[in-house]
Amino acid sequence: MKVDALIIGSGVAGLCAALSAQGEVLVVSEMGPTEVLSSMAQGGISAAISPEDSAQQHAIDTFKAGGEIASYDRIERFCQEAPEAIAWLEQLGAPFVRRAEGALAVRQMAGHTHPRTLYAADYTGLRLVQTLYDQALKAGVRFLSHHTLYSLSHHQGAIGGAVLLDRFAQRPVSIAADRVILATGGYGGIFTPHATTGAFGSGRAIALAAEAGAVLDGLHLMQFHPTALLSGQLLSEALRGYGAQLIDEQGERFSDEQLPRDQLSRAIVRHREAGHHTFLDLRTIDAAILEEHLAQELLLARCYAGVDPRTEPVAIAPAAHYSMGGIQTDERGRTAVEGLLACGECVQSGIHGANRLGGNSLLEAVIAGRRAGAESGYCGVAHDASLEPAQIALSRWAQGEPIALGQWRRSLGSVLFHQAGVIGSQARLQSAQAALGPLKAALKAAAPSVGPYLRSVSAYLDAQAALVLAEGVIEAAIKAPPVGAHYKEES
Ligand SMILES: Cc1cc2nc3c(=O)[nH]c(=O)nc-3n(C[C@H](O)[C@H](O)[C@H](O)COP(=O)(O)OP(=O)(O)OC[C@H]3O[C@@H](n4cnc5c(N)ncnc54)[C@H](O)[C@@H]3O)c2cc1C
Repeated sequence: MKVDALIIGSGVAGLCAALSAQGEVLVVSEMGPTEVLSSMAQGGISAAISPEDSAQQHAIDTFKAGGEIASYDRIERFCQEAPEAIAWLEQLGAPFVRRAEGALAVRQMAGHTHPRTLYAADYTGLRLVQTLYDQALKAGVRFLSHHTLYSLSHHQGAIGGAVLLDRFAQRPVSIAADRVILATGGYGGIFTPHATTGAFGSGRAIALAAEAGAVLDGLHLMQFHPTALLSGQLLSEALRGYGAQLIDEQGERFSDEQLPRDQLSRAIVRHREAGHHTFLDLRTIDAAILEEHLAQELLLARCYAGVDPRTEPVAIAPAAHYSMGGIQTDERGRTAVEGLLACGECVQSGIHGANRLGGNSLLEAVIAGRRAGAESGYCGVAHDASLEPAQIALSRWAQGEPIALGQWRRSLGSVLFHQAGVIGSQARLQSAQAALGPLKAALKAAAPSVGPYLRSVSAYLDAQAALVLAEGVIEAAIKAPPVGAHYKEES
């Protein structure tokens, strides 16, 4: 099959790219089209739309929160584009909440000097994905679900398509494309079980992009969200915007809840390392607001922690949440490989610096997705790649024993979280590097088996990529000076 634009990923970034791309467009996803991390976004999407706010102030907040290492000009252009992106989403049918008098409602997120986060209760991501998916179907975009990316077809610095594994038919498929747009999300999942993403987000496409010649940048810049349940699910920052308080086991507040995520995560980790337990207290929020705008948070606390947050505080700790590093692109989503574009969380696009502000990620997925989709002139040389390497691998794995990689992933995540996590040091990072040795050896000795839904094969490919990303994260962290979410104490 040959298409004009092959988009890998059906999250907000991939769907926005699909809606902006010309010609024959095919969107591939590892699972069902709306089974994406974008659907989990609760808090909302930020844009300066109120009369008392401005794109310039949004840009200043973004630049400052990011540790002032990103390009201010790029950020300003991004923030200027935000209100138009919101208008586009609304026109497509995105159901943002409006106030009684009709104006779009905005709420406060930490680090923003104005309330500027638009929302659809605390199901913003899900509502956006549903709206965009529906529009993409109406626009005639084609979808290929339950196919996982195996390799990128490239030759002499130019992209030509991709080889996918059909998870149900258990066979490889080659798609030739003039351009490939990666919208595969971030790599926070390498920290699982200490990640709000679960094990999703191993960074496989990021590792493949690097193999094809794309440049990876800022891998050490991992954002930890301060308030995850101890089982990893996120409690939205919007809660603190409405007045939720951080307390310890004695009911004492120990930090300013409005601090940016990096600073607050450190305050929580320090308090925990001093022997305290840490909780988010939602009892300070009006019950009607909780029920109307934050219903999912109540359900998450009840279902995962067995706690009714209307009557008792919920135990929380930081967890890996958002990767600021990734594939380096220019403002139009172009990578160093001709015809290969990237957008959304898999990218280091120079907006978030060393610490992303709440609501800026969905915004980036929309803006960068639309820009990458529209970039129809950046083409490689479409060709049908040989299926032989994938066929050989599958026939080798057909003899394999099923392997359990869940425990391997948890071991990797624990090493990363405890030694290359919220508070690092050269000594901790070096011990993390040493701890990767045995994990690497264990993975080398393992082989997946070809079975239902290629579960074992997919888990194996993810584990390989997670290891590559983990090495990249630690190496970059050892070299880079501390800034924002990348924090190192004296060893
Ligand atoms: C719990 C949670 C809450 C959040 N809340 C907010 C919020 O309120 N506001 C905000 O701005 N941001 C929020 N974020 C961050 C934001 O949701 C993400 O950064 C953003 O949605 C990423 O979108 P994306 O399109 O880049 O990737 P994703 O939505 O992760 O989509 C990735 C796509 O790529 C596909 N894919 C991945 N690997 C492969 C492969 N190997 N082969 C084939 N397909 C593949 C997946 O199947 C999927 O279709 C939140 C994140 C989480 C986890």
